[in-house]
This record gives sequence, structure tokens and C-alpha cells, in this order.
Amino acid sequence: MNKINFFAGPAILAQDVLQEAQEAIVEFKGMGLSILEISHRSKQFVEVMDEAQTRVRSLLNLSDDYAVLFLTGGASSQFYMSAMNLLDEGQSAGYLETGAWSSKAIKEAKLFGNIDIVASSKDKNFSYIPKGYEINKDFKYLHLTSNNTIYGTQIHNYPETGVRLVCDMSSDIFSRPIDINKYDLIYAGAQKNLGPAGTTLVIVKKDVLNKVKRTLPSMLNYQTHIDKGSSFNTPPVYAIYVSMLSLRWLENNGGISSMQKHNEEKAALLYNEIDRNGLFHGSAAKEDRSLMNVCFLPTVEDHKDSFIAKATEAGCVGIAGHRSVGGFRASIYNAMTKDGVQRLVDVMKDWETTNG
Ligand SMILES: *Cc1c(COP(=O)(O)O)cnc(C)c1O
Repeated sequence: MNKINFFAGPAILAQDVLQEAQEAIVEFKGMGLSILEISHRSKQFVEVMDEAQTRVRSLLNLSDDYAVLFLTGGASSQFYMSAMNLLDEGQSAGYLETGAWSSKAIKEAKLFGNIDIVASSKDKNFSYIPKGYEINKDFKYLHLTSNNTIYGTQIHNYPETGVRLVCDMSSDIFSRPIDINKYDLIYAGAQKNLGPAGTTLVIVKKDVLNKVKRTLPSMLNYQTHIDKGSSFNTPPVYAIYVSMLSLRWLENNGGISSMQKHNEEKAALLYNEIDRNGLFHGSAAKEDRSLMNVCFLPTVEDHKDSFIAKATEAGCVGIAGHRSVGGFRASIYNAMTKDGVQRLVDVMKDWETTNG
């Protein structure tokens, strides 16, 4: 039986993408070679890199003011690289603390400038998004985590701050439209909502670079990667290829606005069941619920393992919650189908019948 993949990351990819990715391993573009054994300087791979960048640009309506990069080191490397490139010693930046990933971003950024935590939801185990906080107009930028993968919260209304934004969009990039003009920098590890692990998408406004006084190592300077088209060193060829296929799939399926509608429908299906069914309840504040990572708890704590076993038996894998929240987490990224979500909802209904 085919499994429904609810894992948080690395995560589900569309079947069509996997099929094409598989074929390229055996033979790529009639070259008589696998994509795994060709040069990153070959015409065939350069075309892949170009297409990946072009598709990011068209999906997000990026102007030439922005550069699109495919880097390595994960979103975790962007925690320091963003601050290192944008924030000079003595300058200040605001950070919104909304979960474990934002806490890590704060820790790393502190190495490079004055970091002001403008608000935190740590007091309630990151179960909500703080609102109504003060922003210092002198901040070089405000750093946000758009979607908190572990806690199942998401920023639905962006603060009107007048300050430039830097955003970790690892787990919701391409799930909904964004107003790019507010951002100096966006980064996202590919392995949640874009592709396989191994590459990190970075979108950066070019004119904010080269302003800090510190000397940057070449590999940690965004300008190096802009100048060399993300091929200063050997890029992760296969991860970029599969990400490109996934961007192509996204465009062929109506682009971001139709993906948003699809994501809203899937999330509504699951949250409605969580709210209706007496054996479950959501863990995040309702107005801040994530459309990507749906976190919920069993009303009877003893039910946790047996429900996971039941879901797994029905083919729904990866629904155990992160240890810092407990309970369950169903990650329903772009590639998750409505039928997949329905299968989990059906297991919840059956569970109610047998245990209610
Ligand atoms: C997974 C995740 C990260 C870490 O990504 P890596 O690529 O493993 O470094 C950072 N931020 C968010 C929001 C994530 O979901």
C-alpha cells in the first residue's frame, strides 16, 4: 500500500517529481551519463541551474534588484551568514522569538551585532505568535520565522514596521504569495517545502550587500555566490535538480495562488476534524495555526502511541509530534494531496468510534 508522508522534513515530494528524478539518475538528457556523474559546468547542468533560478523569479515576481542563490550548509548556516553580511558591529537588529529555530538564529546573530528580541512566545512554549510589539526604526532589519515547523504556528499578518525584513521561510516558502518588496533577505532549507535536503534557497536584495566593514570569507559572502551564479564551488547538483523539478511542478499546477487555495483547503479539512473530534485538540493558538504543520494533542495522553500505531497501520506515516510539543504533528506541505489528508481524517474518525 502506498504511504502518506506526513514527516516534517525531509518531507513529501510530488510523485511526478520523484519519477523524473529517478530517471535522471540512470540517464540525464540523453547524455549517456547519470546526473550524479556530470560536471556542474556542463551545459546540461548550467541549464538546470538557470531554470531553477528563473522559476523562483517568476513564481515570486522578483525584480532584478534581487538575486536568487542555491547554497549549502542548510538554513542553519543562514542564521549566521545573514547577520554577518547585513549587520555591522555596533548596529542593531530586531528578532522575533517564535520557536527553536528563531532562538538558534538569535544565538548566531549575536556574534555579529546587537540583537534585540522584540517579543517572544517562549512563556507559553511557543504556542502563539506575539503581536503588537515595538519596533525600533534604527533596526537594520527585523528577523522573522514565517512558519514554526516544530510548534505549528505561522505568521498570518505581517507587522507593518517600516523596517526591512529578513525571514526564515524554510517550512512555508512557495505555499502562499508574499510581498517581496518588504524583504532584504529570505532563506529556506529546501527539504521542507521545496526539494530534497542539501541545498538552501536564498533570495537577497543586491543593494543591501557590501555595506559591512568586516572582512568576509569568500564562501560566506553572498556577493561571491552572486558573481559566480551559485557555482563558486561545486553546488549540490542533484538537490538543485530535484528542487528545479519541484518548481516546475508548482508552476504546472497553477503556481502559488492555486497552491495557497489547495493548502487552505487541506488545513481546514484537518483542523475541522481536530476541533470536532473530542479525542483531539489543537496545541497552537487558533489565529496563529500553521497551514503547513498541524500540531495536535490527544485528549487522553495514554492514547498517543496507540493512535500513532493505528495511523501507521492505515499508511499515514510521520505523525509523531516533536518531543518539545508531544502529541501529533501532520506536515501537509505543497505536495500533500487532499486525499492524503482525508486518509488521516478518516483514521481520526474511526478512532473516535472505537475509543470515544
Ligand atoms: C528545518 C528548519 C531549519 C533548519 O534547517 P537546516 O537546513 O536543517 O539547517 C531552520 N528553520 C526552520 C523554520 C526549519 O523548519
